[in-house]
Amino acid sequence: MRYIFDPAPLPSVAIAGGDQRFPVRRIFCVGRNYADHVREMGNDPKSEPPIFFTKPADAVVESSAAIAYPQSTSNFHHEVELVVAIGKGGAAIEAGAALDHVWGYAVGVDLTRRDLQAEAKKAGQPWDAAKAFDNSAPIGALTPVSVCGHPTAARIWLSVNSATKQDANIDEMIWSVPEIIAALSLTWELRAGDLIFTGTPSGVGPLQRGDAVACGVEGLSELRFSIER
Ligand code: MN
Repeated sequence: MRYIFDPAPLPSVAIAGGDQRFPVRRIFCVGRNYADHVREMGNDPKSEPPIFFTKPADAVVESSAAIAYPQSTSNFHHEVELVVAIGKGGAAIEAGAALDHVWGYAVGVDLTRRDLQAEAKKAGQPWDAAKAFDNSAPIGALTPVSVCGHPTAARIWLSVNSATKQDANIDEMIWSVPEIIAALSLTWELRAGDLIFTGTPSGVGPLQRGDAVACGVEGLSELRFSIER
């Protein structure tokens, strides 16, 4: 194949405890998956099926990175989330078999231009500008299921400049990981390399230039990043 210019490198994520990489195919995200966060955004947790949106694969950012404050926003938010890495694809996967498709887990942050999201919601427009921008998916090193198992109860937390902002447990998710995979795979055929951000607990809030963010899910590698001055 002769391309007219060099293609962009394949996005990938570090794997904890080694030098191998997980190649990223797509990034799916679940909206509204913790009741407290659904309430803080002004919605009723029980009335809604899971909603999905996507980010480009090259939105991933490694731990320890410095991220530029994005353009076109003055309300740039953090959302800490458990991330599921798919190792085996499938369509219409049954919840009972869904965990067989999981390669591993990580902590990630669904960075959000909240002001653009509010405008999109009000106008009934897509969320791409709010969610799918450059560097909007910082993610920690992936831990394989062979090491961490399938976490169902674990603390999930995020701090900004050492002050805790989000602190919850993944057992508070409205839709479990198997239920998310089952629902998502009814609309998209999942493939190895897909990542799923599973939604954020309450406590989302703004990031400013110069902030240092740290976050984690108990049992997985921590993620740290900063916002450039
Ligand atoms: Mn989110």
